[in-house]
Amino acid sequence: MKDNDISKSRHHETLTATALGWVDESTDAMALPLRPSTSFLRDPNQLDRAGRIFTRDDNPTFSQPEALINKLEGGGGCLLYASGMAAITSVFQRLQPGDHVVLPKLVYSGLRDWLNSHGLRWGLQVTYVEDCSPHLLQSAVKQGKTKIVWLETPSNPTWQITDIAAAADVAHTAGALVAIDNTVATPILTRPIEHGADIVVHSCSKYMNGHGDLIAGAAVVAPQHTAILSELQNLRNEYGGVLGSFESWLLMRGMRTLSARVRIASESALQIAQFLQSSERVEQVLYPGLPDHPLHDVAVRQMSGGFGGMLSFRVKGGEQAAKLVAGKVRIFRQAISFGSTESVIEHRAGMEKPDTPTPRDMLRVSIGLEHVQDLMSDLQQALE
Ligand SMILES: *Cc1c(COP(=O)(O)O)cnc(C)c1O
Repeated sequence: MKDNDISKSRHHETLTATALGWVDESTDAMALPLRPSTSFLRDPNQLDRAGRIFTRDDNPTFSQPEALINKLEGGGGCLLYASGMAAITSVFQRLQPGDHVVLPKLVYSGLRDWLNSHGLRWGLQVTYVEDCSPHLLQSAVKQGKTKIVWLETPSNPTWQITDIAAAADVAHTAGALVAIDNTVATPILTRPIEHGADIVVHSCSKYMNGHGDLIAGAAVVAPQHTAILSELQNLRNEYGGVLGSFESWLLMRGMRTLSARVRIASESALQIAQFLQSSERVEQVLYPGLPDHPLHDVAVRQMSGGFGGMLSFRVKGGEQAAKLVAGKVRIFRQAISFGSTESVIEHRAGMEKPDTPTPRDMLRVSIGLEHVQDLMSDLQQALE
């Protein structure tokens, strides 16, 4: 089922909780049916009847989660991928050898590693900027040569904020597209296309699914970019980074609670950021919801409903002191990844390559859905 009163709602709570109100036409099932079929029947004239041929190209279980993500982002189309990295790399696979891309130095480390080991070898020219403020971007873009300006806001793992509209102005003037990794903010808190982004990608392994039991990715294109959507769809088919139908079904299930999860995580994260700021053992708290964050005013303007569930803090005493704190937690789990129901803490520099720009005395936390008092007491005892 396609359009209905629910899917016209402007409120993400309604869109997510009802999964756009779709009902399966053949059974009236209110929950998305799982359709794992690899292949689809052709009529006697050898033409496909349902517009579907083979699941590497498309599968009916993708339609509802793709429509929901697209609706939340205000896009012109969405594609699901086998992982966030598959979604991210497809944006670069569109490019030609010699094309130039600009991205922030502190970007999701998997993308930095991919560009260094594969993007460069393949002929891409890469410029890293200290941050994506308009004047730094201005000096990094090359008129007509830069094809992608890559943004992430708040960005891993120090939660820098980028003014998307200002960055998009610079990129578009130079003839580049703006692609943004919206994994951390989610469309619940930020809708980059409204601020001028052309392509939005997600690791759905994090908040979108939200239950720590799935690897998936998504790419959304702005409504004016239908040609890019078909290019990406062809690339997905040809490189084969398509999502499994069961994973797609799980993702749809997880996204029904997206709004509520992001709201709770954001509320708790703000309280925890304030609590950490008052601790004598903490050197610095990095969280866009704090008034002393350098771009707090941009975050207030660009984000709605909270500042997200991710924050980092630098522990007095350096790397060893930070690692000790991470080792002492009892409710937080010491683990990689984020955006699940349970809170995790991680010494991020230790997880990245030795040349990482990530501060070595810094711990990254993902705030989950536990009671905030339990989380604060846990950090308190770990810091003692
Ligand atoms: C995890 C993550 C990715 C990569 O996604 P996978 O689903 O693990 O491939 C990309 N960007 C950000 C911001 C992430 O946190």
